[in-house]
Amino acid sequence: MKMEAFTVENVPLIKAGDDIASIICQNAEIRDKDIIIIASTIVAKAEGRVFRLDDIVAGDEACRIAQEHQADPRFIQAVLDRSRDILIESPIFLVETNNGHVCIKAGIDTSNVDKGFLVDLPTDPDASAADMGKRIEDITGRKISVIITDTNGRAFKIGQTGVAVGLYHIHPIKNWKGEKDLFGNILQITEESVADEIAGAANLLMGEGDGGYPVVILRGLELRSDDKSSVKEMYRDNSQDIIRKGLFSLRHA
Ligand code: GDP
Ligand code: MN
Ligand code: MN
Repeated sequence: MKMEAFTVENVPLIKAGDDIASIICQNAEIRDKDIIIIASTIVAKAEGRVFRLDDIVAGDEACRIAQEHQADPRFIQAVLDRSRDILIESPIFLVETNNGHVCIKAGIDTSNVDKGFLVDLPTDPDASAADMGKRIEDITGRKISVIITDTNGRAFKIGQTGVAVGLYHIHPIKNWKGEKDLFGNILQITEESVADEIAGAANLLMGEGDGGYPVVILRGLELRSDDKSSVKEMYRDNSQDIIRKGLFSLRHA
């Protein structure tokens, strides 16, 4: 078996209003079933989700949390504005974004953006992935999938990896339940998070710094689905989530 992954060259610094789909199509030859992986940071930039810290007014809660972190209260205010729940306030600031993604500081970055500015996650990354995917399909006539990624930490382990935050025409979970292992045992539990695995692989080529490679194409996997797909398929139901329950009891003890 074989798959290949390569970066798209010549992507400029992205500004509000840029047409990322057409930039990709100008700089890469797209084939059917290609999976196009796009860093959320450029999607957010194209959607105008870049804000000046000086334009943000921090409220009392932001000032209090900022003190615990020795952070800029305006940055913390931006995180609060984009979050519907706080899971851990300190020493890490772990929130659930208004769109349901659990991550540190609502995924807001101050890297790879002008000094004094911050860049959000896209407001609705599934919708962004769908817009981008449909436009790439219109331009090229190919049937493709899109994964929008961000870099996230994990509980229990040091180190961040790429994860999927928005999807177009690819289901994030491959269900192995009911399939046989090498010894004929029926698999009972395994659900493989293919979207996060692909995001991690693409992130190896993107890097985190000044590489300038926000788009990766992965070729060779049979994962395109005609169904509507969403990252929400990956989120564990709150009632099944013992980690979340544990964090809740800690916060409300
Ligand atoms: P995130 O993981 O979505 O938060 O994005 P990163 O800030 O880690 O950037 C991922 C990759 O995209 C790195 O190779 C960056 O250098 C690159 N990158 C970020 N913004 C831009 C941009 O506007 N244009 C280009 N060409 N590359 C960018
Ligand atoms: Mn990021
Ligand atoms: Mn990154």
